Amino acid sequence: MFDAILIEKTDETQSVKLTQVGEDMLPEGDVRIDVAWSTLNYKDALAITGTAPVVRKFPMVPGIDFAGVVTQSAHPDYAVGDHVVLNGWGVGEVHWGGLAKTARVKGDWLVPLPEGISMRQAMEIGTAGYTAMLCVMALEAHGVVPASGEVAVTGAAGGVGSVATLLLAGRGFDVAAVTGRASEADYLTGLGATSIVDRAELSGKVRPLNKERWAGAVDVAGSTVLANLLSMMRYGGTVAACGLAAGMDLPTSVVPFILRGVTLAGVDSVMCPSEKRREAWRLLAAELDLEKLGGASVEVPMDKVIETAPKFLDGQVRGRIVVPVAPE
Ligand code: NAP
Repeated sequence: MFDAILIEKTDETQSVKLTQVGEDMLPEGDVRIDVAWSTLNYKDALAITGTAPVVRKFPMVPGIDFAGVVTQSAHPDYAVGDHVVLNGWGVGEVHWGGLAKTARVKGDWLVPLPEGISMRQAMEIGTAGYTAMLCVMALEAHGVVPASGEVAVTGAAGGVGSVATLLLAGRGFDVAAVTGRASEADYLTGLGATSIVDRAELSGKVRPLNKERWAGAVDVAGSTVLANLLSMMRYGGTVAACGLAAGMDLPTSVVPFILRGVTLAGVDSVMCPSEKRREAWRLLAAELDLEKLGGASVEVPMDKVIETAPKFLDGQVRGRIVVPVAPE
C-alpha cells in the first residue's frame, strides 16, 4: 500500500482524498518509481477541485510532474536507482500522476534527471520551466538572437514567463517583461528584465500592424495579447506561443505574416518528442540560475495539497508549489 491523492467519480459526483492505495491498482507501465517530489500545477488544481474536465479516466492520481527514483524497470534505458523526471504525456489526466508515493509509467516518457539538478529543483522548474525552455528553443530555431533586438515575454511574473525571462536574460537578450502586476517590477528586474511593459498596452483594440517593436516574443496569454504582439513584431520576428491565460481566441489577421514575415511558432510540452525534452532539460541544467528560481517556490505537504488547490486557483498562492511526496 502507498499514500496517494485519489480523485474518484460516482454518479457524476467527483470526490478527492488522501488515501492508501494497493500496488495492484497501479496502471500499466514498464518502470516503477518511488516519487520523491511532485508539484501542484494549475492543471492539477483544476483536476482536484473538479473545476474543469482535466481528468479523463477515474479513479485518477493527479500530478502532471514528478521526480523520483526507479525501483523496478523493464525498460532498456533505466535501471533501479536511477533518478528520473516526468512532465506531461497525459500523466495526471489519463494515467496516474505524481501526487502518490509510487508511480508506474512508460519508460519512454521519462527523462534522466540532469546532472547538477536535485529532484526538488527539477520540480521547482517543472512543466512551467521546461515549457519556457521549449519556447526559448523555438525562438532560437527561428534565428532570433540577442543582436536581433529586444524580445518580449507576456505573463512574465507567472510560472512560464518568469523562467522565460530568466533564461532569455541569461542568454544576453534585452527582455521586455509584460505584466499586469506593477508590484512585480522589482522581481522581474531581478530576473534580468531590461524593461517592464504594462499588460494594458497589449490588451487594447487590435490593429493589423503597429510600430515594429520586438524581434521575438514568448507568449503565455493568447487572445488579444497575442494578436497585439503579432502586430508589433519587427520584420521577420517570431512569437513562441504556448498559453491561453488571456483566452483561447486569436483575433488577428494574416497581415503580420504576409507583410512582415512574422512567424507564429506553437509550443506544446505534453506530447513533445523525447529527444527535444532531453535537450530542453540539458539546457535547463546548464543555463538556469537555480538560486534565483528557488526563491519563488512554496512547499506544500501531501496532506495540505487538497485544501491548497482552490486557493491556488483563486491566485492566493504566489510562486511555484513543490510537494515533498517522500524526499530522500
Ligand atoms: P501562471 O503561473 O498562472 O501564469 C500566468 C500568467 O499570465 C499570470 O501570472 C499573469 O502574469 C498572466 N495573465 C493572467 N491573466 C492574464 C490575462 N488576462 N491577460 C494576459 N496575461 C495574463 O501560469 P503558467 O504556468 O505560467 O502558464 C501560463 C500559460 O501557459 C497557461 O495558459 C498554461 O495553460 C499554459 N501552458 C502551456 C503549456 C504547453 O505545453 N503549451 C505548458 C505549460 C503552461 P502577470 O501577472 O505577469 O501579467
